[in-house]
Amino acid sequence: MPIFEYDCQDCGHNFERIVFSEKQERITCPKCKSERIKRVISSTSFIVHGAFSGGSSGCGSSGFS
Ligand SMILES: [Zn+2]
Repeated sequence: MPIFEYDCQDCGHNFERIVFSEKQERITCPKCKSERIKRVISSTSFIVHGAFSGGSSGCGSSGFS
């Protein structure tokens, strides 16, 4: 489940929301109930998905004989 980070444009409150479906519901600020919400792309959520820790694919095979 992707967790998106949001910033309220009115009071500056920062909060996170777990998005269950692609259909986005109307996000309101839990603090001031404002609808002026800006989504923040945080790089921390990408680390969970993009774990490039294989590193055993040797692409230097030369078959000279
Ligand atoms: Zn707010």
